Amino acid sequence: MRTTQGWAVSEPGAAVRPWNFVRRDVGNRDVAVRIHYCGICGSDLHAARGGDTTAFPLVPGHEIVGEIAEVGPGVSRFTVGDPVAVGNIVGSCGNCTACRTGRENWCAQVRLTYGGPDESGNTTQGGYSSEYVLDEHFVYRLPDGLDPAGVAPLMCAGVTTYSPLRRSGVGKGTVMGVIGLGGLGHVGLKLGRALGAEVSVFTTSPGKAESALALGADDAIVSTDAAQMAAQANRFDFILDTVGAPHELGPYFDTLGIDGTLCMVGIPDETMRVDPMNLIVGAKRLAGSGSGGVPETQEMLDLCAEHGITADVEMVTPDYLDEAFDRLARNDVRHRFVLDLTN
Ligand SMILES: [Zn+2]
Ligand SMILES: [Zn+2]
Repeated sequence: MRTTQGWAVSEPGAAVRPWNFVRRDVGNRDVAVRIHYCGICGSDLHAARGGDTTAFPLVPGHEIVGEIAEVGPGVSRFTVGDPVAVGNIVGSCGNCTACRTGRENWCAQVRLTYGGPDESGNTTQGGYSSEYVLDEHFVYRLPDGLDPAGVAPLMCAGVTTYSPLRRSGVGKGTVMGVIGLGGLGHVGLKLGRALGAEVSVFTTSPGKAESALALGADDAIVSTDAAQMAAQANRFDFILDTVGAPHELGPYFDTLGIDGTLCMVGIPDETMRVDPMNLIVGAKRLAGSGSGGVPETQEMLDLCAEHGITADVEMVTPDYLDEAFDRLARNDVRHRFVLDLTN
């Protein structure tokens, strides 16, 4: 067993405190990753404060960048010192249809990076910690030439937005919308542009509309402005909805063209209603997506390396975690906090 230094919440809503815990020894096909940076995802906030995970104390964090500290005897792809990244899945059965088709995130036995059962029935603990031990299959080589701290959020926000774009065929000629400009939204915007789509951002504030344009959006629409929304009627092929709070979907369906798709990747904590006529008129689709499998995570990283894409991040230290959660809860971050664990 390996003693690991972590930052944990002891019960839902509790303050974040240093907490030492043990990780498993490095097995045959395992690597130990020394963690340098960990993104602070909206899911971390929900898990730490919402109490919907199974067990506490809880160490959140599933957007990990670091280096290989140790390798098991059966490890073939990595050696000590390699710069690597880890996302929100760290294990799966390896045999089911989902696993065999590279969609490990939908394996019934998927092992989440934190808050889920590990192979021995203990709760997995996440990346707000000094080290992680996992199967090399779920470890990715860090692309050269990208700021490592800015890569960390790609490991959840990046693949969560990339997967539905690819599966919906977003590319050159696609007129795409992104709702929201938080952690997910600003990465979805960059990936949509890299895939060749024309990308517009829907946001509630004129200030964020300006930063959307600065981040490369072709257009920014203030969604609270009825005239601006009316001008978008039937315009979009695909809209990525990244908003994590309940909101009306009807106005966005009105902006979709025939056969258009609205895909949800944000997770509002209340059930939302859909008027069937919004789907029937124009044969529109409501879809959803979450995380991604190993091959598409690698594909996403390759695309980011090719286009120089990283998340826009604000670096914080562990003593700032409670304040970072407070600010994330009120959407007061441009566009992702990243925890600096290099000290
Ligand atoms: Zn996440
Ligand atoms: Zn499986």
